[in-house]
Amino acid sequence: MAKPLIARIAVPVPLYHFFDYLLPDTLDNVPSAGCRVRVQFGRKSLVGLVVSIESESDYALNKLKPVLEVLDSRPVLTADIMRLLTWAAGYYHHPFGEVVFSALPKRLKEGEVAELKPQSHWSLTETGHTADPADLKRAPKQAALLSYFQNSVDAELISSQLNSDWDNWRAPLKSLVKQSLIGIQEKVQSALSKNDVSTGESSADICQLNSEQAVAAAEVVQAFNSYQTFLLQGITGSGKTEVYLEIIEQALALQLQVLVLVPEISLTPQLTRRFTSRLNTVIASLHSGLNDTQRHSAWVQASKGIARVVIGTRSALFTPMPDLGLIILDEEHDASFKQQEGFRYHARDLALIRARNKKIPVLLGSATPSFESLENVRRQLYALLTLKHRGAADARPPTVSLLDVCRRPMEDGISDQLLSKITEHINHDGQVLLFLNRRGYAPLLMCHECGWTTACQRCDANMTLHHHNQQLRCHHCGYEKPAPASCPECNHESLYIPGAGTERIEVALKEKFPSIVISRIDRDTTRRKGELDKKLKQARSGEAQILIGTQMLAKGHDFPNVTLVGILNVDQGLFSADFRGTEHMAQLIVQVSGRAGRGKKAGEVIIQTHHPEHPLLHTLLESGYSGFAKTALIERKQAHFPPFSYMVIVRCESIQKHHGLEFLNECRQTLNFEGIELFGPLPAPMERRAGRYRWQLILLSNERKKLHGVLQHWVPKITKFKTTNKVRWSIDVDPQDMF
Ligand code: ADP
Ligand code: ZN
Ligand code: ZN
Repeated sequence: MAKPLIARIAVPVPLYHFFDYLLPDTLDNVPSAGCRVRVQFGRKSLVGLVVSIESESDYALNKLKPVLEVLDSRPVLTADIMRLLTWAAGYYHHPFGEVVFSALPKRLKEGEVAELKPQSHWSLTETGHTADPADLKRAPKQAALLSYFQNSVDAELISSQLNSDWDNWRAPLKSLVKQSLIGIQEKVQSALSKNDVSTGESSADICQLNSEQAVAAAEVVQAFNSYQTFLLQGITGSGKTEVYLEIIEQALALQLQVLVLVPEISLTPQLTRRFTSRLNTVIASLHSGLNDTQRHSAWVQASKGIARVVIGTRSALFTPMPDLGLIILDEEHDASFKQQEGFRYHARDLALIRARNKKIPVLLGSATPSFESLENVRRQLYALLTLKHRGAADARPPTVSLLDVCRRPMEDGISDQLLSKITEHINHDGQVLLFLNRRGYAPLLMCHECGWTTACQRCDANMTLHHHNQQLRCHHCGYEKPAPASCPECNHESLYIPGAGTERIEVALKEKFPSIVISRIDRDTTRRKGELDKKLKQARSGEAQILIGTQMLAKGHDFPNVTLVGILNVDQGLFSADFRGTEHMAQLIVQVSGRAGRGKKAGEVIIQTHHPEHPLLHTLLESGYSGFAKTALIERKQAHFPPFSYMVIVRCESIQKHHGLEFLNECRQTLNFEGIELFGPLPAPMERRAGRYRWQLILLSNERKKLHGVLQHWVPKITKFKTTNKVRWSIDVDPQDMF
């Protein structure tokens, strides 16, 4: 009798080992590594992934359960992705099963076939082409829909396209089909909406690269087919995107696929549009705004090599791409490349691993590179490419000045000087952008009589006042309640409202400038689908003359009419508990400032601060981001923080305060920390969130190898500690924030 084959399987559970199953002879085919199978796991039937096929098991064969079904004839995760994920599971000390399954889109996790499914395509019939919508006057929705089809540039439309322009289109469309004005066909290709996949036509607005850009592009092109990392440091508006496009075109000409990772696509629809209109190829985009069907087909198109360019957020890094020849990571300093929960990987760092395995180049781009990347340039691990000038011939970097607001009247968060500047720019037909990293009306309510504040019951934080609905909302746990009119403690009648958020600025400015269109862009005003896109268009066209916004406005947008940028509060960043606080503050200032003067008019940036003497602010203004980084990196080195050391945080949360402490004490006692500095257990900077106490144990070492060597053997044991089941715990390798 032939020896039975054993499949070693990863399942999506938080356990640090694999599971062996028998492959019965009754199966049609033997799955290879990277194929999905269905197995019985405990009482559940689960989708698992084959890690390897073995001839022996550590367990008695009669104890092994059989694989129930093989779901793939070819691996869904190719060998290079399996290799990347294996490395990642080891480096981030995360259970391999969870790592693998976080790399798959939902439909594939659930076992759906990795093929494109047919989709309805609607088009006008012959009668539909010539019919007059006015004849449908008793059915206005049908009439509108018919004329929409007649005016559409696309001969065929699919549901996602209709969804983006219509609320309820299914019923009227059905009627039009019944009347034979519109026909329907089921087809597989172009399963994505136009924005998500499209065959763009090279459009005319290609600009001649300037010499800096041409040099940068040529360097990367020369490195095709070899592993090398480039850091493209270009000031805002220097034309980094043009450089990407040039390199991508060259890669496409060589039949290579290109992966482009960006921080958050839904924030930058403009970027996707620029790619689709410039590149004459099939582009798939993978981001959080897609539904499961769209995500599934984008993934399948990329993995079959149909889509030649993939633009996506961090998890798109795990998309199999058979001809991958280049990875570009735009805004590489952005913290959103690091996943902050579950499998806490950094897409930038893993992009390098994928590229090294595949022997292809990586291009990291930013106006404000992370200190890690700058240090890697200094160590000659990355090649530096710089763009020092703005791309458009007549655009100049803005002038930046500090505005000391100590002891100045600050009505609703804006000083009188800034207010008169705003007036001046508006009177000269300029556009004004005000940046404030805090949404809501005010960060808290306070009683001047007894000192009562709007503390959240579940967090160590105050609840933010939202004016439009007079609610208090905790931005950390979501708890919400009506704002009291008088003090709940001492009944004092009027409550004091200190500080300002974007909503307050908006209310105040609307009073000051009643005839000006003012647009507030933050998470509260852009919840509804399509709202952000609408607001960004309004901002770009200049229709909204004053823009007020949070981080959402800081990233990558091109507002050609903005002449004045006001940064309302930078002081938080100067005194943050996080060792990256000043780095992030400088990045934000530079990125926000970069929104000014991108068009023909000169730009001006004003930074309100209570600390105009702060040396780091001065360095930033006088020597720019690079000078700032040089100085701040010296401080970082003296403090022995990353990138001059390697950090891992063991975090935990517990309902009872002492449980977390006991757990981390057990961690500390069991850890062999020779060569590693240990700090803690310490309460997290925000000690309580959503009703749970939060603790951390910080591990710091000069030697990455040593640190990981210790963790490798120790982390799997954590699951068996006495105190483990009383807490939620996690390991954060190379943490991006300390909270
Ligand atoms: P970044 O990505 O560095 O912020 P962009 O690629 O968005 O910069 O370019 C900023 C602006 O400059 C865009 O409007 C772009 O069309 C323009 N631009 C870039 N490069 C050139 C060039 N070589 N010639 C003319 N205009 C350019
Ligand atoms: Zn009171
Ligand atoms: Zn809360």
